[in-house]
Amino acid sequence: MENANIKAAYENLVSVLAHESGGDLVNLHSMRRSVMHKLINAERGTVSKRNALRRRLSREQDNKCHVCGCDFKPKGKYAVLDRRIAHLGYVHGNVDLKCNECDRKKQEDKKFS
Ligand SMILES: [Zn+2]
Repeated sequence: MENANIKAAYENLVSVLAHESGGDLVNLHSMRRSVMHKLINAERGTVSKRNALRRRLSREQDNKCHVCGCDFKPKGKYAVLDRRIAHLGYVHGNVDLKCNECDRKKQEDKKFS
């Protein structure tokens, strides 16, 4: 989708929310937050699904980072889900579990490439 289409879709959404809220600022606030969470879930999947995937990968990777092989903290607390191809989402087969340090290095490498 081109930027003009995104801008038009956004402006339409803002208009719909303003109308549907009936001018009630509390209602508008609630509706914006609800839409925001729904969009985040559409992009990233729900927290419970990502946590289930994290637990599965932690077992499959023997609780070790996919990149450097270090041990994760107990319960995978510091394990980061990393999509190989972003638009394919957080699904098994498209995600690796890595440590914070390896994830941070990847993010830094992206900035300089
Ligand atoms: Zn690592």
